[in-house]
Amino acid sequence: MTERFDVAVVGGGIVGLATARRLLEAEPSRSVVVLEAEREVGMHQSSHNSGVLHAGVYYPPGSAKAELCRAGKVAMERFCADHGIEVVHNGKLIIALDEGELPRFEALVARATANGVPGLRVLDGDELREVEPNAAGIRALHSPTTGVVDFGAVCRAMAASLPEVRTSARVLAIDELGTGVRVASTAGHVEASVAVVCAGVRAERLAAATRHRTALRVVPFRGSWRPLTPAGADLVRGNIYPVPDPALPFLGVHFTRRVDGSVWAGPNAVLSLAHPRLLARAARHPGLWRLAWRYRSTAARELWEDRSARAYLRQLQRYLPSLTADHLAGGHRPSGIRAQAVSSTGELVDDFVIEGGRRLVHVLNAPSPAATSSLAIGAAVAAEVATRLG
Ligand SMILES: Cc1cc2nc3c(=O)[nH]c(=O)nc-3n(C[C@H](O)[C@H](O)[C@H](O)COP(=O)(O)OP(=O)(O)OC[C@H]3O[C@@H](n4cnc5c(N)ncnc54)[C@H](O)[C@@H]3O)c2cc1C
Repeated sequence: MTERFDVAVVGGGIVGLATARRLLEAEPSRSVVVLEAEREVGMHQSSHNSGVLHAGVYYPPGSAKAELCRAGKVAMERFCADHGIEVVHNGKLIIALDEGELPRFEALVARATANGVPGLRVLDGDELREVEPNAAGIRALHSPTTGVVDFGAVCRAMAASLPEVRTSARVLAIDELGTGVRVASTAGHVEASVAVVCAGVRAERLAAATRHRTALRVVPFRGSWRPLTPAGADLVRGNIYPVPDPALPFLGVHFTRRVDGSVWAGPNAVLSLAHPRLLARAARHPGLWRLAWRYRSTAARELWEDRSARAYLRQLQRYLPSLTADHLAGGHRPSGIRAQAVSSTGELVDDFVIEGGRRLVHVLNAPSPAATSSLAIGAAVAAEVATRLG
């Protein structure tokens, strides 16, 4: 007997789990199954990130990111409080190092203000050093409501609250039937009225397998951190960020004081060579080549700093001049793989992207701050599903 559900969610990362949760919150009588390829939920981006609960500073006002980050942060704080998951509101400083950075800094302040981020203050050099005594810089935007959380723990708590989460169930094919979809996985197959694909780096490949046509390709970008030693961590109180390049969706290398009190520097952003098949697929799309040409100097610098600890240190010392090579812990460098959509014109797609067919909804771009925003993204996806369930 084939099992039948109202909705099958493919991917047990934080977005898939939040979607399943919202589908059931909205209509508890629905039957919803989550199919996750790995042996546990949240093993990819959702547990390999900076753990920052973003306050919504960076995103163009009115964009999905701006709206869903704001709503998602509030929902995530409530979820964590209800499930005994620690959130530390240790605040963030976005630092302008010199006069040359001030125009971009002022534009960022205007954007953050338009987004209604609570508690913001612009600090001069002396004031910023009251918050972060060891930081360089002439001006900073202070966001005291920014926090940190263990999103892996959030995923596990979300999964525990759902009735049907199947792990070690890699989805191999999704076929549309007259009345729904048939989802075949390594753990057998199920039928559902609607399927939602929240598969991170594999989202677009699965979409293509269902003959969904999109102009986007999901490209895997590795971000690696360099943890600081305890003495290095003593130099940082909260989270220290650069003024980002508005042309890039990545926020630049930063210092994050994580919930366990450790401080990590990073992540950088380089193409992930550990995903040759996804890269080969992306290479058949004009977007990747246009992207590579457009950002050739940024890419070369990122690669150089990825290889050279000394070059990376120099970059970090611009923000923390007293940091030395001895403050960078040796050994394992933790990393995460970002699923980042690229358009055919070679743009890194900044906003969240949800596309759909008659019986399918695809989350094609859910980069940072999608962990912060996950519960609000889940609500948006659940609303898409509801229109298809009728
Ligand atoms: C380096 C880095 C730093 C970041 N920092 C932050 C931050 O500080 N704050 C923040 O809010 N966000 C941050 N993010 C972004 C955030 O982690 C992601 O946006 C979010 O986790 C995306 O969740 P997801 O569920 O879409 O993807 P994922 O967590 O990647 O989940 C996708 C799931 O789909 C599963 N899957 C794939 N293919 C199949 C298949 N065929 N069948 C079944 N299952 C499948 C995978 O196993 C995986 O579990 C960061 C991301 C990275 C990589």
